[in-house]
Amino acid sequence: MAAQIIDGKKIAAELNEENRKEISMLARDHNLQPGLAVILVGNDPGSQVYVNMKDRKCQELGIYSAKYALDEKTTMDELLELIAKLNKDPKINGILVQSPPPPQIDEEKVIAAINPAKDVDCFHESNVGKMLIGKTDGFFPCTPYGVMVLLERSGIDPAGKHAVVVGRSNIVGKPMLALLVQKAPGANATVTCVHSRTRNLPKITSQADILIAAIGKPEFITADMVKNGAAVIDVGINRVEDAAAKRGYRLVGDVKFDEVAEKASFITPVPGGVGPMTIAILMQNTVKACKMQNNIPITD
Ligand code: NAP
Repeated sequence: MAAQIIDGKKIAAELNEENRKEISMLARDHNLQPGLAVILVGNDPGSQVYVNMKDRKCQELGIYSAKYALDEKTTMDELLELIAKLNKDPKINGILVQSPPPPQIDEEKVIAAINPAKDVDCFHESNVGKMLIGKTDGFFPCTPYGVMVLLERSGIDPAGKHAVVVGRSNIVGKPMLALLVQKAPGANATVTCVHSRTRNLPKITSQADILIAAIGKPEFITADMVKNGAAVIDVGINRVEDAAAKRGYRLVGDVKFDEVAEKASFITPVPGGVGPMTIAILMQNTVKACKMQNNIPITD
């Protein structure tokens, strides 16, 4: 069997078209422009790429983008002062601090300092809690919710299926479990999480109808770990050295794409799968934040 490739770029473009319509509606009917503040502390090259992508997408869609590139030596107090200012700024509806920050920055304290109403990454415990209990007046986390939308728009209904999530990070694995298990349309999966302490991991992954890899290990999931006909979603983004590539490296996922594609029914590529969805959901959350902060009803 050769898997159907899930085109994340195409689905993200559809989502961004919907975002663009909402942004036009906010301008036309309410004289509002959603605003996103993205804070980068330090010079991590990967983070710079992500921040620039977010900034560019805001500009493309008509979201006001405030980009803060702070010095590597920025102190906690300086960062908290900036967050406090942005919390009060009515032009800013969403705030995010790009991960990973340098070691003097306590990420937990930073997340706690962001006004939950502006926490468009859904990292604040208030929004994480709301997501867990199925409340929709917070935000859904960008990458895991992006995966849910990819499944839905590819016609894959998790209801009653066995979904196995590989990885249990706060950013991807754990919220992925929470979204898949909800008693709600587009969810209702039977969920298993496996991680570095799991015994006989391949035995469990090969029982998955839906296998979601979020490990950060290049091509970790091989064909023998996958059930025939499974839908395989690859969240991983890993740089591997490649002398033949222009930049000296290429991007691969956590799944050995070629061999798993022979066995799966659906598969996401890397790049061009989950990645574009993450930014599209961030834009969607920023629009939602703008609506909620201005008491405009949410329709979806
Ligand atoms: P992370 O914080 O490093 O978490 C990795 C998880 O994988 C941990 O739970 C770890 O288990 C588990 N793991 C590591 N090695 C394992 C092994 N040999 N066997 C079983 N489990 C193992 O990573 P993350 O932030 O979740 O990101 C995961 C991947 O997704 C990375 O490649 C990252 O770049 C990518 N990512 C992509 C997007 C996107 O937009 N597409 C967004 C975020 C992240 P323990 O908990 O036991 O240590």
